[in-house]
Amino acid sequence: MSALDTHPGEGRQAAALAEIREIVGPKGWLDDPEARAPHLTDWRKLYTGRAAAVVRPASTEEVAAVVRRCAEARIPIVPQGGNTGLVGGAAPHEAGTEIVLLTDRLSRIREVDPVGNTVTVEAGVVLQDIQQAAAEADRLFPLALGAQGSCHIGGNLATNAGGLNVLRYGNARDLVLGLEVVLPDGRVWDGLSGLRKDNTGYDLKHLFVGSEGTLGIVTAAVLKLFPQPRQVMTAMLAVADPAAAVSLLHKAQEASGGQLVAFELVPKFAIDLAVAHVEGVENPVGGDTGWYVLLEFATPSTESAFIDALEQFVEKTFEEELVVDGTIAANEAQRAGLWRLREAIIEAQDRAGAQLKHDVSVAVAKVPDFIAEATAVAEAEEPGVRVVAFGHVGDGNVHLNLVQPEGADGAAFMARSDALSQAVYDVVVAMGGSISAEHGIGRLKKADLAARKSPVALDLMRKIKRALDPDGLMNPGKLLE
Ligand SMILES: Cc1cc2nc3c(=O)[nH]c(=O)nc-3n(C[C@H](O)[C@H](O)[C@H](O)COP(=O)(O)OP(=O)(O)OC[C@H]3O[C@@H](n4cnc5c(N)ncnc54)[C@H](O)[C@@H]3O)c2cc1C
Repeated sequence: MSALDTHPGEGRQAAALAEIREIVGPKGWLDDPEARAPHLTDWRKLYTGRAAAVVRPASTEEVAAVVRRCAEARIPIVPQGGNTGLVGGAAPHEAGTEIVLLTDRLSRIREVDPVGNTVTVEAGVVLQDIQQAAAEADRLFPLALGAQGSCHIGGNLATNAGGLNVLRYGNARDLVLGLEVVLPDGRVWDGLSGLRKDNTGYDLKHLFVGSEGTLGIVTAAVLKLFPQPRQVMTAMLAVADPAAAVSLLHKAQEASGGQLVAFELVPKFAIDLAVAHVEGVENPVGGDTGWYVLLEFATPSTESAFIDALEQFVEKTFEEELVVDGTIAANEAQRAGLWRLREAIIEAQDRAGAQLKHDVSVAVAKVPDFIAEATAVAEAEEPGVRVVAFGHVGDGNVHLNLVQPEGADGAAFMARSDALSQAVYDVVVAMGGSISAEHGIGRLKKADLAARKSPVALDLMRKIKRALDPDGLMNPGKLLE
């Protein structure tokens, strides 16, 4: 019997729920169906479940007490941060036997240390608030993604979030120095060290980063801070094709001395969708071309030579006909407009019809071949499908989204989604890539992970899961089957 089949209405589970209600108090217990509803479904509305309770503990001690009580009564737990995850990891199952544990009341920024360049935060702090706190201390916290106004740092760490600046600063895993975690038996692992060097055996924090709530609940973290950029240059450049974009990437890295922070590839089709469907969005670049690159350089240096060199670099790319048109943001408003255009692509696709998302990665050099091959197999599988291949190409991450053919029946298109996805994943795997670059596995991709990850890796993952969570109570049915 799996942890999901146990029934909390029966005996000791009902008693445990009553005790948990006492532990979290009235503010920590959601009774109102309207208040509970958003926590029972995922951001994409792919999964809607039920829960035995939705709780909001206010401290690490309360989380530990809740988890201990759940362990004793064998009640499974689904941790939930901002609930912006795209793979259904934070939604409970339909059985209604799980507790959804929200982290939104773990919302304190405990310390900003500008000398050690660290910030210590609780798991429920919204990502944008960490960026803001860092800026107030004249530092940068570089994790940045479209959902930053709602996602929590605990969720970012649990999914090893990537986003726009991985190219220069790495993903969430690269930005964490220490963690505090409530383990499945209710013990607290205090690994909140801000040490940059600590070679005392296995690096436990990395077990929890990317574990999607299946090994424990992250309650706090020590994160790395960086110098604030003093000069930023953002440009949108039109190129002939993805191969030209990859060539531009290497030149841009060289010209900036490694100060390229973002490099996003976007097809013209996606830009046109954004302009057509999202109000207030404009494309400032002409050019009869199929592709655009949105790139950003940033430096902590105040030397004007930096920007001069980059402007010369952009000019040279025009002379070499690598870039066929483009614009450099002249002020903050123009810069924001370019990023708004990039973000609007996600919204615009939703309005264009049913769509199938693939968050995948391959080696950067293989990105052009990947886009060409995956597009060809998708079009062969589903004639008329509209392919939107865009994303963080500077780190090999392509969001290959397939929008239903114009005028087609969206539901019928989605019914054929598995064949389409498998065709795309076949191309990814043949190129040595990953079927999940940054969004994780959750519920959506767990069968794909089981089918495509190496048996040795799967065996190790299952052994780790069993060692830490022998009763399978932490986010069951997610990540691993
Ligand atoms: C518009 C938009 C843009 C996005 N862009 C990006 C992007 O560029 N890059 C990217 O990587 N992602 C992106 N995402 C996906 C999403 O924002 C990230 O996965 C984010 O890290 C999830 O954080 P969250 O707090 O919302 O987590 P949730 O959705 O609440 O949870 C995600 C997973 O983590 C677990 N979890 C949550 N909190 C904890 C905790 N404290 N301890 C243990 N487990 C926990 C949950 O159980 C679940 O499995 C985007 C999403 C949207 C809606």
